[in-house]
Amino acid sequence: MGFQTEAKQLLHLMIHSLYSNKEIFLRELISNASDAADKLRFAALADGELFEGDSHLRIRIGFDGDAKTVTIEDNGIGMSRDDAIANLGTIARSGTAEFLSNLSGDQKSDSQLIGQFGVGFYSAFIVADKVVVESRRAGLPADQAVRWSCSGEADFEVETIERAQRGTTITLHLKQDEAEFANDWRLRSIVKKYSDHIAIPVEMLNTPAPAAEGEEQAAPQWQAVNDAQALWTRSKSDLTDEDYQSFYRMVSHDFAEPLAWSHNKVEGKQEYTSLLYIPGMAPMDLYQREGVRGIKLYIKRTFIMDDAEQFLPLYLRFVKGVLDSADLPLNVSREILQKTPAVDSIRAALTKRVLDMLNKLSKDEEAYAKFWSQFGPVLKEGVAEDSGNQEKVAKLMRFASSANDDDQQSATLAGYVERMADKQSKIYYLTGDSLTVLRNSPYLEVFRKHGIEVLLMADRVDEWMMGYLREFDGKQFQDIARGELDLAELGIDEPADQAEPEQDKPAAEGVAARIKTLLGDRVDEVRTTRRLTDSPACLVIGENDIGDQMRQIFAAAGQAMPETKPILEINQAHPLVSRLDSESDEELAATLAGLLYDQAALAAGKTLDNPAHFVREINRFMFS
Ligand code: ADP
Ligand code: MG
Repeated sequence: MGFQTEAKQLLHLMIHSLYSNKEIFLRELISNASDAADKLRFAALADGELFEGDSHLRIRIGFDGDAKTVTIEDNGIGMSRDDAIANLGTIARSGTAEFLSNLSGDQKSDSQLIGQFGVGFYSAFIVADKVVVESRRAGLPADQAVRWSCSGEADFEVETIERAQRGTTITLHLKQDEAEFANDWRLRSIVKKYSDHIAIPVEMLNTPAPAAEGEEQAAPQWQAVNDAQALWTRSKSDLTDEDYQSFYRMVSHDFAEPLAWSHNKVEGKQEYTSLLYIPGMAPMDLYQREGVRGIKLYIKRTFIMDDAEQFLPLYLRFVKGVLDSADLPLNVSREILQKTPAVDSIRAALTKRVLDMLNKLSKDEEAYAKFWSQFGPVLKEGVAEDSGNQEKVAKLMRFASSANDDDQQSATLAGYVERMADKQSKIYYLTGDSLTVLRNSPYLEVFRKHGIEVLLMADRVDEWMMGYLREFDGKQFQDIARGELDLAELGIDEPADQAEPEQDKPAAEGVAARIKTLLGDRVDEVRTTRRLTDSPACLVIGENDIGDQMRQIFAAAGQAMPETKPILEINQAHPLVSRLDSESDEELAATLAGLLYDQAALAAGKTLDNPAHFVREINRFMFS
């Protein structure tokens, strides 16, 4: 049979280009065997017969140095012929296409991604040129077992075989230069490294001491290599950082170290244990709706499901870990979880734990900066999603600021409030596509001049998020590109010489009205402003209009937004505006007005409707 196209691509990649961290193949295969044990236990809750009299679940690893093979065997749920074809010949997970298209040339980071995309089984081909899988599904008769084998990239073979033993045996025929893996010490150390905390024993044959003279040589016996105890059931005081880190590698398939973790046993009305981690690196499917959501649910040590999304809000989807409940019924489904009140209170408690953990992490600036760069935009969703915790989330946010010029997002809202000028009543911010555009934005001019700090927000979610964040510490937020600017609000006492001379007012209104006539319906309104000191003009949007970032989000989602026209604000003191004001040639004045509009749009980081026209007009002036 032929592989599905994506599977083929992936296989090709495994065979030809993943050189580093080859040893993860064992982690992946053990993880699958452990999943198979979990699945059998779960299925046996409904039908005890499936154990076929053998409920001691374990994984066995064997090798043959001469034949250059490694075998991984489990007595878990097993596969039927159809299962094998479906599960080993295709890739159902949509993340895989993403995985393939996102591959960089950096082999190391690429192989780190393998686990995250659920492409685990194919990692066998990193070290093997032939893989044989023999399996029988629990409950099926011995003559309905299957042998799946593959030794090339294009296709695999499937045949029905006899197999008394339930579960799966995978035999890897190692590539010529990977023979080192058929080695007792090597295999043991990989198991310890990655799979120590698998909840069932991973066994290997021991080497008995040589028999004394005249005595019979003892036969080797299967012995557990790993710890085989669910780590979260152990007491905190017995566990080291290294224990927690290696358990993290196992649940997350992540190579980067976790930034923080929190292990808690809750007793009382509800009983559960949670072990939650903040990862050090964002997975690639963080922004995909169907992406993995982290928490594994156990009920009294029995694995129930992956991605138990009911236990944390969506904006904390980056959190990894386990939840082991003593109260929930073993037969829970996602549907039941949704209707169980106990779930809501666990969710509220876990949410609080994570926010507290982040708050603690934020005391370590360097670590927190790492967290923020990876997950900041996701956490910001919490402002909208979790109004009950809005203030806590707001305190965890970090922004770039006009008060410094590094590109780090390091300003906190509390810090901003502390730095506010005496009479300043609002928290000022500006959103846009990039920090460079924001830092050079004409909107900042008057704020710069008076030393008033503005928070700069260049994440895609910012405008949307700020729609939900009304105030912080009793201070309202104000987007400085919106609505009219009230200098008094800035707490700026206008020096007398700066005040607009009364007699200029009609003149100002005159030039604004003229520009409005020249620009026609490109703008909603033209008015003079105090916002600008150096630039001739800027575009502002109405207090309640939809901004550019939101427009882009809607457009990407295929939703057309109603057109709204911007307001052009002009700096009456600017020579270009005076020049326009005194221009008697109406055609030239129209060109100047158009240029004024276009450069205001450019400075705001917008793209022009007709850039070539703009360039032609500019050139006309340069050569005239
Ligand atoms: P994932 O583990 O993320 O589902 P894998 O590529 O590691 O992806 O495995 C693919 C599928 O193959 C598994 O979901 C499972 O259905 C099946 N499978 C792999 N190994 C075993 C095994 N030892 N026993 C039973 N099923 C297995
Ligand atoms: Mg797997």
